[in-house]
Amino acid sequence: MASGSFRNGGPKLTSKLDRQPSSAAYSTPKPSSKSRPSAAPASRRGGSVAPAAAHSASKAGGDAGVPGRVRVAVRLRPRNAEEMIADADFADCVELQPELKRLKLRKNNWESETYEFDEVLTEFASQKRVYEVVAKPVVESVLEGYNGTVMAYGQTGTGKTFTLGRLGEEDTAARGIMVRAMEDILGDMSPETDSVSVSYLQLYMESIQDLLVPANDNIAIVEDPKTGDVSLPGVTTVELRDQKSFMELLRLGEAHRFAANTKLNTESSRSHAILIVNVKRSVKGRHDADQSFHGENGTSSTMVTSFRPPIVRKSKLVVVDLAGSERIDKSGSEGHTLEEAKSINLSLSALGKCINALAENSPHVPVRDSKLTRLLRDSFGGSARTSLVVTIGPSPRHRGETSSTIMFGQRAMKVENMVKLKEEFDYKSLCRRLDIELDKLIAENERQRKDFEDEIERIRTEADSRIAEAERSYTNALENERLKCQQDYMDSIKKLEEKWMSDVEKARAEHQDACLEKECNKEAPTSSSDEIAEVRQLLESEKLMRQSSEDEVSNLKSEVSHWKNLEAAGNAEIMKLRKMLDSEANQKQKLEEEIAILKSQLLQLSLQADETRRSLDRGGSGKVLTGFDSLVSQARHSQLRDSANGPKASIAKLFEQVGLQKILSLLESEDPDVRVHAVKVVANLAAEEANQEKIVEAGGLTSLLMLLRSSEDETIRRVAAGAIANLAMNETNQELIMAQGGITLLSITAADAEDPQTLRMVAGAIANLCGNDKLQMRLSGEGGIKALLGMVRCGHPDVLAQVARGIANFAKCESRASTQGNKAGVSLLIEDGALPWIVKNANHEASPIRRHIELALCHLAQHEVNAKDMIREGALWELVRISRDCSREDIRMLAHRTLISSPTFQAELRRLRIEF
Ligand code: ADP
Ligand code: MG
Repeated sequence: MASGSFRNGGPKLTSKLDRQPSSAAYSTPKPSSKSRPSAAPASRRGGSVAPAAAHSASKAGGDAGVPGRVRVAVRLRPRNAEEMIADADFADCVELQPELKRLKLRKNNWESETYEFDEVLTEFASQKRVYEVVAKPVVESVLEGYNGTVMAYGQTGTGKTFTLGRLGEEDTAARGIMVRAMEDILGDMSPETDSVSVSYLQLYMESIQDLLVPANDNIAIVEDPKTGDVSLPGVTTVELRDQKSFMELLRLGEAHRFAANTKLNTESSRSHAILIVNVKRSVKGRHDADQSFHGENGTSSTMVTSFRPPIVRKSKLVVVDLAGSERIDKSGSEGHTLEEAKSINLSLSALGKCINALAENSPHVPVRDSKLTRLLRDSFGGSARTSLVVTIGPSPRHRGETSSTIMFGQRAMKVENMVKLKEEFDYKSLCRRLDIELDKLIAENERQRKDFEDEIERIRTEADSRIAEAERSYTNALENERLKCQQDYMDSIKKLEEKWMSDVEKARAEHQDACLEKECNKEAPTSSSDEIAEVRQLLESEKLMRQSSEDEVSNLKSEVSHWKNLEAAGNAEIMKLRKMLDSEANQKQKLEEEIAILKSQLLQLSLQADETRRSLDRGGSGKVLTGFDSLVSQARHSQLRDSANGPKASIAKLFEQVGLQKILSLLESEDPDVRVHAVKVVANLAAEEANQEKIVEAGGLTSLLMLLRSSEDETIRRVAAGAIANLAMNETNQELIMAQGGITLLSITAADAEDPQTLRMVAGAIANLCGNDKLQMRLSGEGGIKALLGMVRCGHPDVLAQVARGIANFAKCESRASTQGNKAGVSLLIEDGALPWIVKNANHEASPIRRHIELALCHLAQHEVNAKDMIREGALWELVRISRDCSREDIRMLAHRTLISSPTFQAELRRLRIEF
């Protein structure tokens, strides 16, 4: 049977294509809240199950992850002069079918294996086409704010540097990916708001050297424990404005690389060259509708609403020219000592191991094993968009190397990344704008106050002068009137006196005359009575005059009261003016309060800006801190100390500030919201290996198990199960979980839950427990295996993958125990009824599920006691299939060996006349 017909070809190939349509292969991600349920992106790697809150610490927004696979292209180098002669009589070891995106690797004249790539680039592919296919989509997504990586992998001499690093000075069509990428980036920048900076380094024997300033050697990698961002503070970063300076920089880097390698007596093929391009762009016109600043009482101040911090997107393009993939002979035949050989191989083989682990969905990805994998942790299985070009040569003499390069590419195609947008508010520029605006307001306020005071002064003087005038005229009129009345009165009194005197005189004379006449003539009585009538008349007129003068006095009195009224009206006007004055003073006070609020907001924003900048300085761009920045940061340093409660205190900070004990106590809070938040925080902490011991010591495990038992809330149970799954990654914790009855609780949760994400967490936790040798009997005895099997009812592939992983773990431990003589009798898996499900899913279309089950079957088959049951349930057929078709050589061989060495299987195969 020609084995080539099945491996990556035929029917399986089609089903693989169905799941990964290559038409969407290189599209730019558009973050969308619908793109994926928030619990899912955390991890698709076996045991490391992190809950939804893991991604909640977004900055300005747009942080939702978009899933994307690592895209892999293969490029064939044309035969070189030496190969033309040496291989003249032989065919190339590969045959390309670019239109089908397939590559055939010849085994001999009759057999070949077919592999599928995202893109197959023949020996005639132009540099322009290679750039467009491999790197351009990554560059475009970097310009949109996502991190991106482009790397070349392949044997020395197959064209990695040709593909990435050619400057194309003599022939412009020969420009490689680095030069073309920078052209596109610089062409898309707006000089006023955006910036680009570049670092160039090499990694050789686990030491990082700055290619721009080669004296910077042995540079340390710094990882931000909170964000996981990797940075190289010791590396030179040069800000660029034009392509010419970039070309100079590349030339300089190449010269330094050459000199350094000559000095160290190493070949450049043994070092990795890494170009890092940092892009910072400001985003305009977004977020305006939904964001405004609010005054203290929640109402937005009219003067403040127009201030929103501009948003900047920071992204990074990393281009990696990897060391030659051919292995160094450890015997040192190339002139290396054994230690050197180990160290030279370390980074590249660590990269291979990480990719294997990610492709296999393994719970542990050994990123920390080498500098290269630490630097690239974001590029594989992280949040960057990644493109890999694997370069191969045509020579049949290097078939082995070519084959392993192709396999590396194939595995990398299975790695999934979650690309994320990194946006943050530009508080610095908002601060500047607010400063200017505040100054304007202060000046305007000062001007208004001056105008206002002038106006008050004018009104007051005018009122004073009017009052004085009214008073004056009133006093004058009163005085005149008084004098006139007095005069009239005196005159009339005088007249009366005169009149009275003359009357008295007259009466006296007449009396004397009458007496004389009486004496002489004793007659004339009529004249005296006339006289009396006259006096009476006089008295009458006197009365009238007095009456008229009395009227005059009363007139004058009423005039006085009129003037008094006038005076009162004047006083009322003064009162009114005073009131106006008071209200103006109030207004002024309000304005001053508003200024105070603005000032305090400005201060708060400065603090936030500082904090942001501090974290940027820590995780950021090497030596680009400008003089201005450092001055500002010094000036504000003292304020920072008081600002312990930044609005975006991350969970880790919370952990430090609040204390674990306090967080754990919140798990028992009365308030369900508090409980949900607390359990999310604990789950986040539990996802970090460093915290796990502390959480368990502080009783966190017990509290989480309690929650699983007692909580009615699905979210709490899901997140708690996720946290337990994370804690269950370590052996001591696994035993503690068992000791505290955890498996029973997990089984109950497994039986009750319907949400696939909850089931995934629970299955992940049990799967981790299954990997512990000491817990086998108890796991099975307390219903753990049955609980796992019960969860397959949900049918969700992520749940099935965890179940399969658990079964594989269990089978492996059991097999080990049997081999060591610690276990006898039929497998507990078979006793618990797992075999029918195992057999039914052994050829599952999802490769993680299939791999785990295939492994489990091989482990079970190794022990003769299980053979009869396995034959009865049809497992023998699956084993035969695995031994022939499994694409993993180790599993294939294991199945083959197992079948050959089992007398029961052999007998059955003979009985069925199957040749084996
Ligand atoms: P690597 O970096 O993988 O060691 P190089 O890029 O240095 O390989 O390529 C080795 C040689 O092959 C160089 O002389 C290069 O010019 C040539 N070469 C590589 N790829 C091609 C190609 N696609 N077309 C023509 N020549 C190529
Ligand atoms: Mg090279």
